[in-house]
Amino acid sequence: MRQRRQGKGYIRAVLLLMVIAGIIYGIQKLFKSPLFETNPPVITLKERLFWNLQAPLQVPISDDTGLKSLQVILSDGEKSIEIPQKAFKSPVKSFLANVDFPKLGLSRKNGILKLTIKATDISKWNFFTGNTALKQAIINIDDKKPEVFPLISSYSITKGGAGLAIFKATDENLEKLIIETNFGKEFKPTPFYKKGYYAVLVAWPLTEKRFSAKIVATDKAGNKTRSRLSFFLKNKKYRTSTIKASENFVNGKIADLAEDRPNDTKDLSPAEKLNYINATYRDENNGVIREVTSKVDHNTLENFKLQPFYPLKNGKVVASHGDHRYYKYKGKIVSEAYHLGIDLASVKRADILITNPGVVVFANYNGIYGNNLIVYHGLGLYSLYGHCSYLAVQKGDILNAWEVGAKTGATGLALGDHLHFSILIQGIFVRPAEWMDSKWMQANISDVIEGAKKMIDK
Ligand SMILES: [Zn+2]
Repeated sequence: MRQRRQGKGYIRAVLLLMVIAGIIYGIQKLFKSPLFETNPPVITLKERLFWNLQAPLQVPISDDTGLKSLQVILSDGEKSIEIPQKAFKSPVKSFLANVDFPKLGLSRKNGILKLTIKATDISKWNFFTGNTALKQAIINIDDKKPEVFPLISSYSITKGGAGLAIFKATDENLEKLIIETNFGKEFKPTPFYKKGYYAVLVAWPLTEKRFSAKIVATDKAGNKTRSRLSFFLKNKKYRTSTIKASENFVNGKIADLAEDRPNDTKDLSPAEKLNYINATYRDENNGVIREVTSKVDHNTLENFKLQPFYPLKNGKVVASHGDHRYYKYKGKIVSEAYHLGIDLASVKRADILITNPGVVVFANYNGIYGNNLIVYHGLGLYSLYGHCSYLAVQKGDILNAWEVGAKTGATGLALGDHLHFSILIQGIFVRPAEWMDSKWMQANISDVIEGAKKMIDK
């Protein structure tokens, strides 16, 4: 009898435990379901904003399960006004709140506003009220456009060449300052001499028919000022030539360079190999150059005194910059390329002089350029030396004027010992002739720098 009672009690206890476990499991399951999720909405809003009160401020709001309600309040420190939002008929997972400055009710005289956004989701959590997120931001009212004044610039710019411009740009909340061009390239200016002044070297790529450039200053509130840089534009014709590719060349240099990229070139015919090296591989090598020569320093430039570049003593020009070369093989044009630099030759393994101070930014093998040295001279200006037999310096070395940086050779896509010399401005190849000509440099660089300083000091 006692034993049976005990047995019954035991069964009851087990049943009860099972029911409790079931309930807990059910509750857990319920709370884990989207119906009772506990994640509040996400309001993407910075703590501090700048606003010109024109275009509405846009604030993205999202929630895993859906937004139920939204409240947007703008306050000027004395009064608060709710900014009506588009109602959502059914819950939405993401929403873009639009904050307009109300026509009536708020004052802008303090220059400061406070924005409060409260968003609630459709979850049944919190006794069926849902999860609520609240975010606030302090807004600085800024409806003043940046001031931009071009000061002085090179008188002219030649197709394929360079020009220097110095200008003033001021704004309390200046965010971005660039030189926009008609060909998509943005040049970055360098702070110059005194606060609020900037200098920029711009380049007109030789493949672009036209050239125009504008200073574009944007502040944190999105106010924008554009001002055109004026240069007298000089057109220049570049040579077109046809180069006959000999069997020797195709089976020698081209075949050797193709071994740099065996997977890409193993199944190509000699003509295809020639085009691969001359076009695809050249683009890749130029990409490496563009990458290292696109940088500009942000330190204030006090001076920019350069000597004409003179990399090779008694160097004879054997090929000029900008030649548009077509390559003929077995009677057919199989490839084309622009020669971006000049070729200078003297004796074998001649010393390459870096005639201006600078920092070595690249000293390595680079495909068709062979052993390749690149030196940065400030203000976005770089000098490049290709086909070297020997590199005397390393990346990071700081060079004085007239140091020997390398020795000439025939590495890369070169026939015979010579130097390939290029000048680049923020990643764009320009005419080396200008930077080897003391008269051009005096008129377009030194005089502009000195003229600007006089104007600033006045
Ligand atoms: Zn060359």
